[in-house]
Amino acid sequence: MPHTYYNITTANIHTLIASNQFGTFFGVHQKVFDEVWANLTHPDGNSAAYISMEIGADPDVYSPVKQRLIDLERTSSMDNKLKGFIKKLFHGPEKIPTYSGGLGVLAGDTLKSFADCQIPAVAISLLFRQGYFCQLVDSRIGQICQTVAWQPEATHGLYLLQDPQNPEEPLHVDIPFYNQNNQITMIRAQVWMKMEISHSLDFFVPEILLDFSLPDTPGPLKNAAGQLYNAESSMAKALQRRMLGSGIIPVLRKLGFTAKTFHLNEQHGVIAILQLIAEELQGIIGHPDLCTATDQQVMAAADKVALRTIYTIHTPVKAGHDRFDKALYAGISHKSCQRILELLAHDVEHPGSYNFTTMAMTVNRAANSVSRLHRDVTRKQFPQFAKKISAITNGVHHLTWISDARAEVFNLFPALQDWQHDPGVFGNLGPMANDPKLRSYLNDAWKKDTAILFNFINTMLLQHRDQKFETWIDPPNLFSSLIDRNTRMDPKVFTVGFARRFSTYKRADLIFDNLDTLAEIVTTNNWPINFIFAGKAHPADAPGKSVIKLILDCQKELHRKSNGLANLIFIPNYDMKIAKMMVAGVHAWLNSPKRPLEASGTSGMKAAMNGVPNISIMDGWWAEGYHNGQTGWKFGLEGPVEEADLSESPETLLYSEDSASFYKTLPTILKEFYQEEKGSTFLDKAVMNLILNVPIFNTHRMAAEYLTRYDLRLPEPQQDEMRHFASLYNSNG
Ligand SMILES: *Cc1c(COP(=O)(O)O)cnc(C)c1O
Repeated sequence: MPHTYYNITTANIHTLIASNQFGTFFGVHQKVFDEVWANLTHPDGNSAAYISMEIGADPDVYSPVKQRLIDLERTSSMDNKLKGFIKKLFHGPEKIPTYSGGLGVLAGDTLKSFADCQIPAVAISLLFRQGYFCQLVDSRIGQICQTVAWQPEATHGLYLLQDPQNPEEPLHVDIPFYNQNNQITMIRAQVWMKMEISHSLDFFVPEILLDFSLPDTPGPLKNAAGQLYNAESSMAKALQRRMLGSGIIPVLRKLGFTAKTFHLNEQHGVIAILQLIAEELQGIIGHPDLCTATDQQVMAAADKVALRTIYTIHTPVKAGHDRFDKALYAGISHKSCQRILELLAHDVEHPGSYNFTTMAMTVNRAANSVSRLHRDVTRKQFPQFAKKISAITNGVHHLTWISDARAEVFNLFPALQDWQHDPGVFGNLGPMANDPKLRSYLNDAWKKDTAILFNFINTMLLQHRDQKFETWIDPPNLFSSLIDRNTRMDPKVFTVGFARRFSTYKRADLIFDNLDTLAEIVTTNNWPINFIFAGKAHPADAPGKSVIKLILDCQKELHRKSNGLANLIFIPNYDMKIAKMMVAGVHAWLNSPKRPLEASGTSGMKAAMNGVPNISIMDGWWAEGYHNGQTGWKFGLEGPVEEADLSESPETLLYSEDSASFYKTLPTILKEFYQEEKGSTFLDKAVMNLILNVPIFNTHRMAAEYLTRYDLRLPEPQQDEMRHFASLYNSNG
């Protein structure tokens, strides 16, 4: 499909302002705005609603509007109408901290690809005024959780929608909550919109964010609405699910959106599906007392709603699945809803609870896992639904994760023409795999990205050292106490990156299981190595936090035993910006989860987008992206997955087996890095990642596969393009 850049010049950037009855927005032409809105409000329901508890799309890693204005050298404006927008864009906050990890970042990447592929969709999530949390790290304490203060009002691309009847007032929805005695309280939410604007500025996907943190919101709800995954109590957790789920249908109707298909990104928002079932059921039985409905009637209603529902399950790990005590849930929901939950959210293991995963798994027309291996595991976990479970392997938004330096290289090669719109073109590089120009340019870009990462790290280490005298935080890194203004971490040293949420099954400390062995590998051949780590543990996850502490505690011993050749650096407060810098700057990306608990993993795909090879357990996406060693290295246990392998208890985490396997593999990798001529096998792997993995593990291809599950009509040229993206890979092949 031809993507037409709107002819935006410095003279006409004011044409990027669009408005309607809900407000005035910046970034797309009025014509684009109206077309998108018309599709979302089409009486035939030609759009999909994408429901996610978290969305990660920080503007400091990707903002096509900002980029366009930079290209036009318009970073300020005298025009009164434009001034406010541009000031926010260039001088306002650039983080929207309403994500905790892979699930949210995947949601953001998905929506960006929907926009690029012009798939009519609207996303719904919550606006958390305290975000997730800010991580401080102290060498003696480990992780310290601080609340985030961010201001949606000051953040560009976020708009508080206005009430069309009363434009001075914010738009709001009122959502009924019930107590044990079925007494009603109406709870109000304001409505924010963020726009994910396409790379060509010719389309957008609105993200509707419900904001329950209002002056009149009752305490417990306000508390639950403040922070993503607030786990202070089961009630806070349940209220969060309830606020998301119950807000969806009312807010869509308030905006006139007519989405036909509902896509649940995890089960968190499944209460929206419950509400649709309640409405169907009322139609079937002809009166509102749903408690009198028979099981058959409830099932008939559920079957109808299932035709409109797509469910993506993201993890085999139990903590990822929502289950709530029935008595507790009765305190916040209507009796009619409980009648439906009794039947559809039945929990075999815990009959006293409602299981939201069961409900999402029951009521849908397609249930998708996020990799092939995860599909097989999910079928084992839900044998009664095995037939309808299939794989759509995750991807990442290539335009977000490819570094500027790599992008500049890609722009130079005619074989990669149009790579911004079609990540499939990287497959064309096959005949050029040994092209000296391509290889040397890629090598230079890699060095540039490594330099950026090391600048960041060296500055950080000095800053921590200086802060020691100003705050009570003890620097997290040993290196801060070793350096003076002239010593630096050396970017020529082989550098391995690891960053993700610190959950115990991800085993961040696996490779430090035997420091003697690790040190010996390094000292025997005089092969220095850097490990760059980052990641947050959920504030309530004590074991996860202890893994962070354990890693910090390793630093000294590792340094000493390796005679200073092996160094471990921890970067606090992991976010998308740090992720982007790390995946592009390191020499290899490490993933060491317990197989098969990493359903997909996406940070390794971000590395692959930049040609950076992975060193990974054969779990999640890597079982598909490894290509017999052409793109990186594998280690650890393989073979068929058994029910028992799903255990997360500490004694079943296979530390000694899998770390031994890592120590066996590591010398090969170091040898390739230090002894092969100019790192030529690393460049081989870089090129092969571009050829083999970029066309597969991108969200354009993933969106195209999901599109086959949605009920949408697209114009023929666009449908063609989507068929092309879908043909790049078959997740179930
Ligand atoms: C990509 C990303 C993740 C997910 O990484 P996994 O490898 O899937 O665990 C988590 N956090 C941030 C900030 C990311 O960018």
